[in-house]
Amino acid sequence: MAQNGIVREFRDGWTAAEIFSREFSYTYDDIIMHPGYIDFPADAVDLNSRLTKNIILRTPCVSSPMDTVTEAPMAAAMAAVGGIGFIHYNNTPQEQANLVKKAKSQRVGFVSDPVCLSPSATVSDVDGLKNRKGFSSVLITEDGTIGSKLVGIVTSRDIDFLSDRMTEVREVMSVDLITAPAGISLEEASGILIKSKKSLLPLVGESGEVVELLCRTDLKRRLAYPKSGVPSVGKDGRFLVGAAVGTRESDKQRLGLLVEAGVNVVIFDSAQGNSSYQKEMISYAKKIYPDIDVIGGNVASSHQAINLIEAGADALRVGMGSGSICTTQEVCAVGRGQATAVFQVSRLANSLAVPVIADGGISNSGHIVKALTLGASTVMMGSFLAGTDEAPGDFFYQDGRRLKNYRGMGSLEAQAKGSDTRYLGDKSQMRIAQGVSGTVADKGSVLRLIPFTMHAVKQGFQDLGLRSVAAARSALSSGNITMEVRTGAAQKEGGVHGLVSYEKRHF
Ligand code: 5GP
Repeated sequence: MAQNGIVREFRDGWTAAEIFSREFSYTYDDIIMHPGYIDFPADAVDLNSRLTKNIILRTPCVSSPMDTVTEAPMAAAMAAVGGIGFIHYNNTPQEQANLVKKAKSQRVGFVSDPVCLSPSATVSDVDGLKNRKGFSSVLITEDGTIGSKLVGIVTSRDIDFLSDRMTEVREVMSVDLITAPAGISLEEASGILIKSKKSLLPLVGESGEVVELLCRTDLKRRLAYPKSGVPSVGKDGRFLVGAAVGTRESDKQRLGLLVEAGVNVVIFDSAQGNSSYQKEMISYAKKIYPDIDVIGGNVASSHQAINLIEAGADALRVGMGSGSICTTQEVCAVGRGQATAVFQVSRLANSLAVPVIADGGISNSGHIVKALTLGASTVMMGSFLAGTDEAPGDFFYQDGRRLKNYRGMGSLEAQAKGSDTRYLGDKSQMRIAQGVSGTVADKGSVLRLIPFTMHAVKQGFQDLGLRSVAAARSALSSGNITMEVRTGAAQKEGGVHGLVSYEKRHF
């Protein structure tokens, strides 16, 4: 960043254009950015950035359309922290459209689909819920579903010392219930819950039917969080929500249902997006639904990108084989190191005012800083978010660690459920895995993870002397950001090393 003559003479560092013009494929860990000059606090860094030509996000983070990452709770939570979530399409078109509707209608802070049991359920059913979901207070409704009349609540205090776990909950549930009318604000509901000294406050409709729930533990955690700021809201006044579609003829019907459900932006889910199928679908979507932004991908090189830009894509998803669960590079011998892919595609796309989403390979805040300073406008994350409370699926314990399942959409397990369109753009019937299925560690709530991560990203920008994503963009193109490729030993030195043991806590 230094401009004075003597530093220029003793040249120190390389521009991105120089680094990425070599014949190597680099990823985030291969490179290290050089610090700039700090004359502003980290809090002053502005991370506003474009998701697409027409949508600006306050938080440049996007959750991936994967069936172990984004359903309604994740999409609502990502919008609540100023980002956006893309609902996966490993389901029927109607199921996906319902998830979009649900995400758009969720209210921050409330549980919109609380688990309910019927009076004839047993205490051992409550134990099972505690193991799988982690909570020990359950609403009891007439027929055991949300939407039916609330008749009691079971908390751990009702069942702690009960030896017969086959006892029906009707015999032990508390019936002195404090409820609040559906639709009241979070502030009002919080006041009632605090005053009641109860662990749950059910919000009920006129006939006493359960509509939503406010939990004491959520409230306590929320009050301890860094402020999540302004949520991402669309013109309809509801959360911004995205959804994935494929490129088959049948996806036109899916697209129609998503638009009816109020989706704000759609993203194509294709491992290699540079295809006639995708070009046709982008043109179709832009013609029939001109108000809906369409994101094309995935691509990793500028010659792929230009085809999708010319077809009308409002943003590009960049990354081939960089995902943590991905085996595309091994199986198909195609792809690119993610730092190189992001830089090269962004260079072209940004010159045509098309924003880039750096998709895959993000495992820490430093990777987000690198993606944004190499030209991406936002980052898409799978594994980073898959272990959060809001990701689909239950937690379970393995070797004393609390985990969730996380699988590639090209894994045989996901393909068996229908996601093979991502990998079988043609009519092939033979399934080959391009991803694996595994587990990730518990990360708590997105409402806490993202604000802390964004603060770390702001500190990175401050170290680089960059006040905003826009400033990063101009510094990149003017060659005012310098960097280097790290050797294996330098990478080792850049991580924790030389200790007998340590605990890595991020915040
Ligand atoms: P992560 O954030 O876990 O590193 O990567 C997530 C990204 O990997 C997704 O957004 C998607 O682009 C990509 N992806 C998801 N499932 C698969 C898969 O099974 N195979 C491949 N090749 N990529 C996948």
